[in-house]
Amino acid sequence: MTRLIRTIASVLLLSAVFAASAAAQTSNPPATAPAASSANAAVVQPFDVRAAVDTYLARVPPDQRARSDAYFEGGYWLILWDFLATVVVMWLLLRFQWSARMRDLAERITRLRPLQTILYSVQLIVLVSLLTFPLTVYEGYFREHKYGLSNQTFGPWMRDQAVMLAVSLVLGALLLTALFGVVRRLGKNWWVWGAVVAIAFSAFLDLIAPVYIFPLFNTYTKLQDTRVRDPILSMARANGIPASEVYVFDASRQSKRVSANVSGFAGTMRISLTDNLLNRCTLSEIEAAMGHEMGHYVMNHQYKGLVFDGVIMLIGFAFLNWGLNAGLARWGQNWGVRGITDVAVVPLAVLILSFYTFVLTPVENTITRTMEYEADIFGLNASQQADGAAEGVLKLGEYRKLDPGQLEEFIFFDHPSGRTRITAAMRWKAEHLQLPQPQLVSVKP
Ligand SMILES: [Zn+2]
Repeated sequence: MTRLIRTIASVLLLSAVFAASAAAQTSNPPATAPAASSANAAVVQPFDVRAAVDTYLARVPPDQRARSDAYFEGGYWLILWDFLATVVVMWLLLRFQWSARMRDLAERITRLRPLQTILYSVQLIVLVSLLTFPLTVYEGYFREHKYGLSNQTFGPWMRDQAVMLAVSLVLGALLLTALFGVVRRLGKNWWVWGAVVAIAFSAFLDLIAPVYIFPLFNTYTKLQDTRVRDPILSMARANGIPASEVYVFDASRQSKRVSANVSGFAGTMRISLTDNLLNRCTLSEIEAAMGHEMGHYVMNHQYKGLVFDGVIMLIGFAFLNWGLNAGLARWGQNWGVRGITDVAVVPLAVLILSFYTFVLTPVENTITRTMEYEADIFGLNASQQADGAAEGVLKLGEYRKLDPGQLEEFIFFDHPSGRTRITAAMRWKAEHLQLPQPQLVSVKP
C-alpha cells in the first residue's frame, strides 16, 4: 500500500514539475548586461544579452524543438520507470525465493564462500538482465531510433549489450565479493567500510575504464589533424595541462550525438572528443568544447565528484544498513534470507539503494550540474569562444531540452540547460566587448 502511495506521489511530483516549468518558461527574469561604465558606453554599442540568447534559441525550428523536448522529457519518466522496474524485479526475486535458490545452488557447487558469492552474483546479474531486457531494448534501441539519435542496427547494438553484460559480470562479482568480505568480517559497523569499498571501487572503475572498458565499445585514436590538434594543445599548455595528445573516438558507431569528455583517474586521465564533434563542428565550437573539458580537468572535478559521491554513499550505506535490518526482521524468513551476511540479501540491498538514489536524483543532478556550469565558465575564459560555445549548445539541443523551467532544471538536469549555457556565453561576450582595448603601458622608471 505504501508503495502504491509512493508511486502515485512520484507521478504527482512529475506532473507538478511539468506544470511549474510551463509557467516558469514565460517568467524567466531578464538577463541583461550590467550597464557599461559611462566612459565605455560612449564608444561601445550596448549588447543585449537576453536578446542575443533568444536569437540563438530561435534558430531551432519549432518542430525540432518539440522533438528534442519530447525526447528529454521522456527521460524524466524513464527515471521513474527504471526505478519501478527495479522494485518489481527485486521484489519477485525475494518474494518467490529465487534469490535464496540461487544461493542454494552456489552452495551446492562449492564450499568456498568467496566463490559462492561469485556464482550467486553471476546468476543474479544474468537473471536481472533478462527480466529487465524489454525496458533496456525500448530505452537503448527503439527510443533512440524513434528520435533519430542512433546510428546502430540491432545486431551491433546487441553485440554491445552482450559485451556490457560480460563487463558487469566481472565487475559485479568483484564488488560483491569485496562487500561481503567486509560484511562478514566487521559485523555491526560493516556499512562504514562498505561505503569505503564502494568509493574505492568507483575510483578503480574510473582508473581502468579508458584503458580496459571504453575500447571494448569504441576505437580510440590520436587526433592527427594539426589544424585542430595544435590550438587544442596550445590551450592545454596555457592552462597547465600536461597533455601531449588529444584522443578521438568513433562515437558515430552508436550515435549521432556531439560530445566530448574527460575520463580516467590519476595516470589514465585524458580528454577525448567524438568523431561527431570533429565532423560536424567548426574549430570555434571544438575549441569551446575542449575548453569546457579542460575546466573539468583543471578544477579536479573527477576528485571532487568522488568526495561528493563518498558523502552520498556513506549516508546511503547507513540507510542501507537500517533498511536491511528492518526488512530482514520482518520478512527475512519468508524470503529464505538468513541474515545480512547471506548473499541472498542482495536484491533487498538493491531495492533500498535504488529507492535512495531515486529520491536523491535532484541532489545528484545539482552536484554534477554545478560542476558542469563551472566548466562552462572556465571554458569561456580559456577558449574565448563565446559564439562557438553557444553554437555547440544548439547542437546539444538535438537531445537536450533547451529552455526548461527553473524547477525542472533543478530536478532533472545534470548539465545546465541550453538557455543557461548560452546566457553564460553571451554574458561573457558582452563583458568582453565592453572591455577597454589593451594599451601598452610603459613601465620604465
Ligand atoms: Zn562537462
